Amino acid sequence: MDWMTDEEWENRRAEIPAAIREAHRHSIHNRSEIEASEKCGCFYCCAVFPADEVRDWGDTYESDTAACPRCGIDSVIGSASEVAITQEFLREMKYYLFTIRAN
Ligand SMILES: [Zn+2]
Repeated sequence: MDWMTDEEWENRRAEIPAAIREAHRHSIHNRSEIEASEKCGCFYCCAVFPADEVRDWGDTYESDTAACPRCGIDSVIGSASEVAITQEFLREMKYYLFTIRAN
């Protein structure tokens, strides 16, 4: 993919569906939400795993922010967020939040 200017990225960002933007908010400062969840999903590696596998709380990223036990990226959302934790949705998130920004 070609490099995008900031303006192009801003335009692209505006096209991100509201459900994806809403779900993305649950990936930051989410410790209490993850601990209240049964399962979690990562929208970077698209793994679905039990919430108690999360062990890294802000050692790598911001405090109270889960890092994925599989890939280490802070892209984890929990089922308590009421976001659908399915691989299909995680892949859609990845597309909007990582793939189209690749540069
Ligand atoms: Zn991951």
